[in-house]
Amino acid sequence: MADVFNFSAGPAMLPHAVMRRAQAEFLDWNGTGVSVMEMSHRGAAFTSIANQARNDLIELLGIPDNYKILFLQGGATLQFSMAALNLARMSDPADYVVTGSWGQKAVAEARRFCDARVVASSEADQFHSIPPVSEWAISSDAAYLHYTPNETIGGVEFHHVPDIPAHIPLVGDFSSNILSRPMDISRFGLVYAGAQKNIGPAGLTLVIVRDDLLAPVRDDVPAMLDYQIHADSDSMRNTPPTYAWYLAGLVFDWLKQQGGLAAMAEHNQRKAEMLYQAIDQTSFYDCPVRQLDRSRMNVVFRLPSIDLERCFLVEAEAAGLLALKGHRSVGGIRASLYNAMPLDGVMALVSFMQDFESRMG
Ligand code: PMP
Repeated sequence: MADVFNFSAGPAMLPHAVMRRAQAEFLDWNGTGVSVMEMSHRGAAFTSIANQARNDLIELLGIPDNYKILFLQGGATLQFSMAALNLARMSDPADYVVTGSWGQKAVAEARRFCDARVVASSEADQFHSIPPVSEWAISSDAAYLHYTPNETIGGVEFHHVPDIPAHIPLVGDFSSNILSRPMDISRFGLVYAGAQKNIGPAGLTLVIVRDDLLAPVRDDVPAMLDYQIHADSDSMRNTPPTYAWYLAGLVFDWLKQQGGLAAMAEHNQRKAEMLYQAIDQTSFYDCPVRQLDRSRMNVVFRLPSIDLERCFLVEAEAAGLLALKGHRSVGGIRASLYNAMPLDGVMALVSFMQDFESRMG
């Protein structure tokens, strides 16, 4: 295998150990003589794979009994619609806290289905910080409150679950930081995440929903968008993305072997600290995000000019440091450090940055 580190924001690198196991099991899963890809989703073999993945996830996140776990399709983007469709009527207020582009997309979509309101936003600060909860104009009758715990493009992350009135279900788009540290699921009504960063390959969407929110509040929700129907059919209303579900299961198993989410939290903290330190110790690199709100998953930074950034990206790629280009909407550099990124990758990036500065700074 080529000696590279892949800093892609998603689809992102998966643990090498998981990829090797998938490769070993590719043609013949567990002596069945067939690939997981070729099995009926309703057969005993896949049922055992699906249940094992679900149970391992329950163990990793400590998911309480009164929640259902759904393995769906449509990406996090479909959850922008499903959350609104299932939880709010057309006239119901639904509150959105917007700290970046994904939150903006979520509220725009919800406006098709309910009275979605932006109750706090850091747009005036170019999404470089998180507005304090004390300043959120929460609606007392909100059907739910939605936020984006990690904004993948802007590199802004909530490091605490916001304290909101208990009667309002909290909805979190955890696409880019789920499984990166322990979390208290009981604080949430609904949690969702596209798989392609910390869970597995693209094509799978994970949804964790509290039982009292399963039944849609309106009666015109299509079956495939109805949480209750997916829960009642164990996420097999139709053919699920079986291979992505299996790979997610391998990632969950790998996470358990690494020591679970507490160990991941330590690993991720260490990597992020190392990179932010390298950025902060010189004025050549600059991270625009407020210190307290910096993401451990997506570290964004700028160089003194766009020309230098272009040169940085070309040289980094030649040095085996891939996919460091910031999102096209904001430019700059972005290093995504999900669970699978080893410490060695960050060390290699930091030493490249120091060398680049010494030659170009
Ligand atoms: N929310 C967040 C925080 C994301 O990072 C992404 C994708 N990068 C999305 C939503 C959209 O996810 P998908 O492409 O799975 O629909």
